[in-house]
Amino acid sequence: MSLDLPSYIAGRPIESEDRLEVFNPWNNELVGRVARITPAQLEEAIQTSLRAGPALNRYQRSVILQQTASALQERTEEFAQLITAESGLCLRETRYEVGRACDVFRFAAMEALRDDGEVFSCDIAPGGKARKIFTTREPLNLIAAITPFNHPLNQVAHKLAPAIAAGAPIILKPSEKTPLTAVRLAEVLYASGLPGWMLSVIHGDLDLITRPMIQDERIDLVTFTGSAAVGKDIAATAGYKKLCLELGGHSPMLVLEDADLDLAALLACEGSFRNSGQRCTSARRLLVHQAVLVDFTERFVAKASEYVYGDPTDEATRVGTVIDERSAMNLEKAVQDALASGAQLLAGGTRRGAQFQPTILANVSRTSYIAQNECFGPIAPIFPVSDLEDALALANSTPYGLSSSVVTRSLETALTAVKRIRAGTVNINEIPGYRLELSPFGGVKDSGLGIKEGVIEAIKFMSTVKTFSLPW
Ligand code: NAD
Repeated sequence: MSLDLPSYIAGRPIESEDRLEVFNPWNNELVGRVARITPAQLEEAIQTSLRAGPALNRYQRSVILQQTASALQERTEEFAQLITAESGLCLRETRYEVGRACDVFRFAAMEALRDDGEVFSCDIAPGGKARKIFTTREPLNLIAAITPFNHPLNQVAHKLAPAIAAGAPIILKPSEKTPLTAVRLAEVLYASGLPGWMLSVIHGDLDLITRPMIQDERIDLVTFTGSAAVGKDIAATAGYKKLCLELGGHSPMLVLEDADLDLAALLACEGSFRNSGQRCTSARRLLVHQAVLVDFTERFVAKASEYVYGDPTDEATRVGTVIDERSAMNLEKAVQDALASGAQLLAGGTRRGAQFQPTILANVSRTSYIAQNECFGPIAPIFPVSDLEDALALANSTPYGLSSSVVTRSLETALTAVKRIRAGTVNINEIPGYRLELSPFGGVKDSGLGIKEGVIEAIKFMSTVKTFSLPW
């Protein structure tokens, strides 16, 4: 049975004949419909948020966030099933995602209680006075958030939880490919005590709803997670306001001469195939020292056979579908292009509907399409490198700079890589995607403007620091 869900304008459910339909990428069944809003309803969302109700204190915000975390945890299976139905991600991944979202709300509940205000004594300079300068944080008036499809719950949690912790009202426009989970999450938040004016969840036409929202001068911050092309478009149209852009990636994993090769094989599988290869931080290029190339490749191909692909609802499945058939066809094209320019297919390579088999390519040309462009799926291209210098140069050779990882036993090599890889994150002996939900996260170059997310940094960016001084 399919769902029929509303949009929410400042807590008020909006039904409409104009609905977005969502189909299951695995079996093409209708999963649900969600109401799209009109420009007048966008205006209502903005005005109601700005009128605001009584501000919640830190304790109240923390309790709402904590209750949301608990409710999500209790309803893990229901949320996992819904994410699987609308995204094709397998249950193993979607249960994991619900756990991550619980962490986001739990950490935000914790951070909501923390005051990072500072105090400066003014008698520390020769002309100083008997005064003190204080800082306090004030929430932004209104935030607009736009999220992608690849983590339908967790990407949304990373926008809503810090906004609530900061005390700032937010209007969310989730991906049109996975809107249902976002609506269900909003319902959990309202049921946990979030006042309506603090959250709207809307769906609608790009030109009638999304662009006008981005351009509206009453909105203080547009926080966007998605592709680099759309992020740049938002930057060009948003006008004078804060921007947080969490964009695409092309993360390298360096497997060096002294690497633990069993660990490297495991990390290559986890980095390339988890979440159907649809993480912004997926390992997109395996840069392998030629001295260990044969040995690593053998272990990697053997390990990859454990990543069973198929029906996303099957408990044994580790790789479900990608988001839709068109996306899978693009992956197929990228693999064919790599093969045409001399790569060898060691595993996978086949497509059935929206399903793309976990794929390993050896000896991939540095000039092939896949070497430079983000191919959002379970494809692992191996590039031989001659030494550390070659690996670092290749690591830095794409327009992206989101994350990276290095497999090595040498601390000196690890530190060199940390210093020289131009990316937001460098993980040693881990996958590029490793993070905590509260630690600073975000990229440079085409992956972002260097503004970090993660619960702590996001709360800061969703507020402004007021400085005031008093005679003392
Ligand atoms: P996308 O950019 O196509 O869409 C993201 C969102 O933007 C959707 O809600 C979409 O409706 C909206 N949108 C599309 N065109 C728009 C426009 N012109 N103006 C405003 N909004 C617009 O991304 P996607 O395909 O949903 O997600 C995959 C991409 O997201 C990948 O590139 C991935 O790397 C990236 N991503 C980045 C991070 C990160 O934290 N850096 C995390 C997850 C995903």
